[in-house]
Amino acid sequence: PVRVRFAPSPTGPLHIGGLRTALYNYLLARQTGGVFVLRIEDTDQKRYVEGAEDYIMEALEWCGISPDESPQKGGNYGPYRQSERRDIYAEYVKKLLANGSAYYAFDTEEELNNRREAEKEAGNHNFRYDASTRMSMRNSLSLKKAEVENLLSDGTPYVVRFRIDPGNTVNFSDSVREQVSFQTSELGDQVLMKADGLPTYHLANIVDDHLMEITHVIRGEEWLPSTALHVLLYRAFGWEDTMPTFAHLPLLLNPNGKGKLSKRDGAKFGFPVFPLRWEDKQKDEVAAGFREDGFLPEALVNFLAFLGWNPGTEQEIFSLEELIKAFDLERINKSGARFDIEKGRWFNQQYLIAKSEAELAPLVQSEFSKHDFELSSEKAAQIAGLLKERVHLLPEFFSNGSYFVAPVSAYDEKTIRKKWKPDNRAKFDILANVLAEHDDWTASSIKAAVVAFMEANELGFGAVLPIIRIALSGSVQGPDAFDMLEAIGQETAVQRLSDSYD
Ligand code: GLU
Repeated sequence: PVRVRFAPSPTGPLHIGGLRTALYNYLLARQTGGVFVLRIEDTDQKRYVEGAEDYIMEALEWCGISPDESPQKGGNYGPYRQSERRDIYAEYVKKLLANGSAYYAFDTEEELNNRREAEKEAGNHNFRYDASTRMSMRNSLSLKKAEVENLLSDGTPYVVRFRIDPGNTVNFSDSVREQVSFQTSELGDQVLMKADGLPTYHLANIVDDHLMEITHVIRGEEWLPSTALHVLLYRAFGWEDTMPTFAHLPLLLNPNGKGKLSKRDGAKFGFPVFPLRWEDKQKDEVAAGFREDGFLPEALVNFLAFLGWNPGTEQEIFSLEELIKAFDLERINKSGARFDIEKGRWFNQQYLIAKSEAELAPLVQSEFSKHDFELSSEKAAQIAGLLKERVHLLPEFFSNGSYFVAPVSAYDEKTIRKKWKPDNRAKFDILANVLAEHDDWTASSIKAAVVAFMEANELGFGAVLPIIRIALSGSVQGPDAFDMLEAIGQETAVQRLSDSYD
């Protein structure tokens, strides 16, 4: 059975690229009747951020792509937090030490820095701990056996390094990139276990993928170079036969398609899924999130699905269920995916339009209540119906529709100057009276009354409608003027018509 995992490090908010990775893993799991695992890769204590794990869970749940196995849900392959699997890694490191694939290295930070400096002075700026330099360092390959034993029994701090011999080519296949190959001479002897006894990402990741019986590793392209090392680790453990299938997802590019999407681009349009709760810790990262910007989770998911994949047809709107059916690892693009927030807003609008007024009513109510207006569900449904084709994000229901319940905040002076004639006052007072007397306050009946007024006063739509609109809402934009009159209500509408333009 297919078993996939999303393996974030809890080092900050879940960004949009991570969410896409989670989504693709989820889609493959659901499509194949497989299992979606959430594994928290928290072995880097220095980068650990309190609260990040909860945030990741909440974001996945909000998107409707919850894991089947996770630290919270448990499962047969736990624990699912790497910090709780220390002993497991220690045991596996021993295997590599025993079969000669790894070695102890006693060099201190200071020694390493000195060596790097010395190399720099000699004109070599790329000192690397590898087959060409390891014999001149302090490790269990360069030192005498007795010396190594002494150092170990004295409790000298050490790291464990992976022994990589040069001159070999590592080939592996990737569902997105097809054949990939790397030269072992390009790789250094990576640290597998740090002096604090915790594994590095590489070791923990491989041991866990193996023990958790992961069949497909779907992750961002930035991990492609590490994959060579991972393949060598699978070999060193003798696990090559059960090595997972790799699929490296294309980079997300910034909106102009010219470079990697950066945090800075992201901050402009809600890069994290939610805003940060640890704002005070990471001031520069404070940004609104997609949820707070007013995206619907199903629209965000649909938008994300298309950042690196397409169904090969014209269809763009896909529910999660439809995505599960249509998704195909083979159809993931190699080239970077341009992150176009306008497209995201378009998706959101499509989902708003597809919802009924009754479904939207509670969302509209909650937007208005953020501004201290409590709407009845009837009123909210009415506003939803009039505005849903004109908004993209949820907060726009209030910013484009506050006039349904609140006084007009600003008038479009330019149009007023153009349309308002000195003798209009008398005519619009007549109109206000006509409307005040009108007894069937529905759009079509109001329209009939306004048309009769126009004919009697020899005025055309072009002279009357902009004036009505501005009086009601402050602008000439917005839904049908007669629908607006109906929704604003007779008393308020009449008052706005008689009060304006004096
Ligand atoms: N912990 C890594 C990350 O933060 C996981 C990469 C992988 O999926 O192997 O993205």
